[in-house]
Amino acid sequence: MTLGQKQRKFTLMVAELIMWAYNNDYEITFGDAMATSGHSENSFHYKRLAIDLNLFIDQEYQTSTESHRPLGEYWKSIGGTWGGDFRRKDGNHYSYGE
Ligand SMILES: [Zn+2]
Repeated sequence: MTLGQKQRKFTLMVAELIMWAYNNDYEITFGDAMATSGHSENSFHYKRLAIDLNLFIDQEYQTSTESHRPLGEYWKSIGGTWGGDFRRKDGNHYSYGE
């Protein structure tokens, strides 16, 4: 798959994740998606293959990696990589194509 094909598949996967989240009583706002700085070296944000999502449960902003776990598990079930599994845990980070 070319980088462009991966990027377009990733975008559709993010849409699926967001729909899944709202259907399960989560709410989300966008953090960084494409970025040119501010992330770790070789970050997938620089390749348009990662997004940080801000999670809300009952109106409350969630900061823990664990609060993202249900979304992370869903994300992995559709082929993504979840930041909660990284050695330096990054629960709000969802990427694709590693
Ligand atoms: Zn990230």
